[in-house]
Amino acid sequence: MLKTKAYAAPAAKARLAPFSLERRDPRDHDVVIDIRYCGICHTDIHQVRDEWGGSVFPMVPGHEITGVVTAVGPHVKKYKPGGHVGVGCMVDSCRVCDNCRGHMENYCTSGISFTYNSTEQDHETRTHGGYSDKIVVDEDFVLRIPDNLPLDGAAPLLCAGITLYSPLKHWKAGLGKKVAILGLGGLGHMGVKIAHALGAEVTVLSHSLHKKDDAKRLGADHFYATAEPATFEALKNSFDLIICTVGTGIDWNQYLGLLKRDATMVVVGVPESQVPVGAGALIGMRRQLAGSMIGGIRETQEMLDFCGHHGITSDIEVIPIQKVNEAFDRVVKSDVRYRFVIDMASLKAA
Ligand code: NAP
Ligand code: ZN
Ligand code: ZN
Repeated sequence: MLKTKAYAAPAAKARLAPFSLERRDPRDHDVVIDIRYCGICHTDIHQVRDEWGGSVFPMVPGHEITGVVTAVGPHVKKYKPGGHVGVGCMVDSCRVCDNCRGHMENYCTSGISFTYNSTEQDHETRTHGGYSDKIVVDEDFVLRIPDNLPLDGAAPLLCAGITLYSPLKHWKAGLGKKVAILGLGGLGHMGVKIAHALGAEVTVLSHSLHKKDDAKRLGADHFYATAEPATFEALKNSFDLIICTVGTGIDWNQYLGLLKRDATMVVVGVPESQVPVGAGALIGMRRQLAGSMIGGIRETQEMLDFCGHHGITSDIEVIPIQKVNEAFDRVVKSDVRYRFVIDMASLKAA
């Protein structure tokens, strides 16, 4: 077994504290990764605070992992020691259902093994995430990080990047399409960069005007504050696609009114409680309300290669792990531009 240093939440809403665990010895197809960086996704906070229910403790969060391969099992073909790799939200899936066979393991019908707060495919062994100094993952769930991308700025691509890339591709964001990104946080800022690189005309809908200059720098063509009622009048029936990254309860009906005929609003943010939707917001313009969850492994690699090609990484604030609790509070207050990334060297030194 591989002794591993980590930070864990001992109980719901508790502060994260030093923790140790053992990773399995590498099996035939396993890759051992020395974790260098891990992003802080808002999902980590939802789960540590048990805002969606069902969290199991102690919990080592973290699913935006980048690092360096230190060892591989005897049958590993894709990776070698020294390679730059990443791990996102999943570490395994059933591999035989229609969705797994169709390279959409993220929609596995038999139960995904999420990177943390979940179990391996034996449905018993708990998984623990990237707020730790090493992880052992089957090569089929390991991603290659393009050589030109730094491991710190690339870490958030493993969740925030793919979560926006997948719906942008699926709903065909590109030249001639008007795309709105609702909420300019970790997910939202990746959405702006990727939608812009895909050639779409990008509008940011943010609750205040504070992030206007940043949005333009990130690649947005237009910026509106949703606190201004005039925004909803000005933008009525304008977008081909809206991606809602806001993870708190907001009135989706208002935003549905900003879609053109036959256009789609895709929900990726996950509020704690249910959001009521009126039929009127949908039927008038034959609009569609949809959802999307991360992306499959093949599509995640495609996204990383796309980001490598376009030189896209996340705008990050790097912190030592000792600052993680403070960082959680700052994310909740939208006080981060635009992703915290933990430098795991701080854990090794502790
Ligand atoms: P984040 O960095 O906190 O960003 C969320 C953004 O929402 C904020 O920056 C803010 O943007 C806006 N916002 C926050 N509170 C608001 C409020 N009260 N009213 C209006 N707007 C508010 O979070 P994230 O990491 O991007 O994650 C966003 C959500 O997506 C979370 O619920 C997370 O669990 C979920 N998620 C889903 C998937 C998936 O696969 N579907 C994957 C990862 C994460 P402005 O300042 O611009 O308004
Ligand atoms: Zn995430
Ligand atoms: Zn499956």
